[in-house]
Amino acid sequence: MSGTFNQPIDAAEVPRFAGQATFMRLPVANTAEGLDIALVGIPWDGGTTNRAGARHGPREVRSQSSLMRRVHHVSGTEPYSIANIADVGDLSVNPIDLMDGLRRIEAGMAEIVAAGAIPLAVGGDHLTTLPVLRAVAKTRPVGLIHFDAHSDTNDTYFGGNPYTHGTPFRRAIEEGLLNPTRIVQIGIRGSVYDPGEHDWARQQGVRVIYMEEFVTRGASDVMAEARAIAGDHPTYVTFDIDSIDPSMAPGTGTPEVGGFTTREAQQMIRLLDGVNIVGADVVEVAPPFDLAGMTALAGATMMFELLCVIAKQVGDRRQKSPT
Ligand code: MN
Ligand code: MN
Repeated sequence: MSGTFNQPIDAAEVPRFAGQATFMRLPVANTAEGLDIALVGIPWDGGTTNRAGARHGPREVRSQSSLMRRVHHVSGTEPYSIANIADVGDLSVNPIDLMDGLRRIEAGMAEIVAAGAIPLAVGGDHLTTLPVLRAVAKTRPVGLIHFDAHSDTNDTYFGGNPYTHGTPFRRAIEEGLLNPTRIVQIGIRGSVYDPGEHDWARQQGVRVIYMEEFVTRGASDVMAEARAIAGDHPTYVTFDIDSIDPSMAPGTGTPEVGGFTTREAQQMIRLLDGVNIVGADVVEVAPPFDLAGMTALAGATMMFELLCVIAKQVGDRRQKSPT
């Protein structure tokens, strides 16, 4: 079976620093047809309110992803043996028109969803997740497991503007794309504008887990709760790189100290095993603020961790109902 799936370029034939940079050194595909998982870039940061630059994220994550090897060292998962995966390139974006940017991202993602592939996207700022959800959750609301320093459920900005990277999950709840009682946000921290800043989210039924609670309970306990909240319902997983401490991921738009270590983040993603994942992303990698590519490497690593969890799910399903 594995002979029919796309394989990464062998580093024993072409060294990791050579050749064209694609996600995980996989072939480029023009469409998502025939893929189980579509790796896709969304080079757009039109929703950024502070330090811009996440538009450069996909390219640098592609470069750093050349360091990802084929086997997950803990789970033993070999994603390229159990799922057909390719880099489908970048979605079409518009860097100077926010509303057109949102439309283009939704349209591009809708093609991937229509092809039956599970999207694993690299942003872009966190507003990109809104048009992605408009495509992924078009037919029914989904749950959300959300790693972030920020809740991203603010209402408006700068005189009533509804679309920024601080508002996507409020809009997604309002639009019926997310079932708020199946949302868990993990790692929330930092100063806020208002003492009641997270009240709206909580009133909708969103479970907000501050970093302080994570530190007390640990990854296993928190992720057991996250899995229970998601249940077996279709769930989107979104990983904002600013959930990681800026000492390990400085290249991002809105850094907050006191974050996850990269090791804690890896541990949590591994504990997504069993969640019914219908799509995932890694967002807010902003290379202009990065040092030595460390944030892009962290992003590529979290992408590989997510890829292994999703591929295992694809493989398990195929075993249960072979086509
Ligand atoms: Mn965010
Ligand atoms: Mn954030």
